[in-house]
Amino acid sequence: MANEVIYSEENLEVVIGDITEEETEAIVNAANPTLLGGGGVDGAIHRKAGPELREECRTLGGCQTGDAKITRGYRLKAKYVIHTVGPVWREGSAREEELLASCYRKTLKLAKEYGIKSISFPAISTGAYGFPKDQAAEIAVREVKGFLKENDILVRLVCFDKETTQYYLAVLKKLRCYG
Ligand code: ADP
Repeated sequence: MANEVIYSEENLEVVIGDITEEETEAIVNAANPTLLGGGGVDGAIHRKAGPELREECRTLGGCQTGDAKITRGYRLKAKYVIHTVGPVWREGSAREEELLASCYRKTLKLAKEYGIKSISFPAISTGAYGFPKDQAAEIAVREVKGFLKENDILVRLVCFDKETTQYYLAVLKKLRCYG
């Protein structure tokens, strides 16, 4: 079943559900630096895409934190997967905010280069990597909205749980009131 849209404005949607079910042209993977698969959303994407995804990832030579690399989507509905490596939260002492912003920026830049017209993001770094969800939501919305000012692409922020949707909605509301 399609994931439920709980908020939408112009080219931005907040969605609740499983990113592997998304029918956008690209989905984003919160990967680890090996790009060879892991737990959380990464594991779910690799399971659904099939072993061919790992084979292609193996040819990429890993990915640095804050960077992004693109592959095909194989058995996913999405044509592409953009793999980005979020920062592990270390109490804010290791440029985590800058690195998380870089994940969104580099991913969107790659999407543009490939002419991608719709893309779905998970809440990068907010699971096993421990980034505070409210701060992560603020960075995600800021970067995406900045990009949308100058680019015509549909961005869906996919939340696996209701708590994450609340953080996105709070940031979007704040922007509407004071932005
Ligand atoms: P990270 O290591 O970057 O923290 P995780 O996969 O542990 O990555 O978590 C990132 C976010 O993705 C979390 O908010 C988690 O709840 C969410 N998530 C996990 N599985 C899925 C899924 N199938 N679809 C969408 N989001 C998911």
